[in-house]
Amino acid sequence: MNTAMKKDFKGNKQSLPSKPCAVCGRTMTWRKAWAKNWEFVLYCSDACRAKKSHKNMP
Ligand SMILES: [Zn+2]
Repeated sequence: MNTAMKKDFKGNKQSLPSKPCAVCGRTMTWRKAWAKNWEFVLYCSDACRAKKSHKNMP
């Protein structure tokens, strides 16, 4: 038996991408609604987006 080809694939379906919200830091898990623009999703919710827009960039 050669197990060299076995990588760390565990058949886990919960391996969706995630990243922290730019405002509150809460982990956002990939959603189907974000499939087209996941790279540009920065905030976990409209509330955080609104918060961010209140601050002006330095
Ligand atoms: Zn947030």
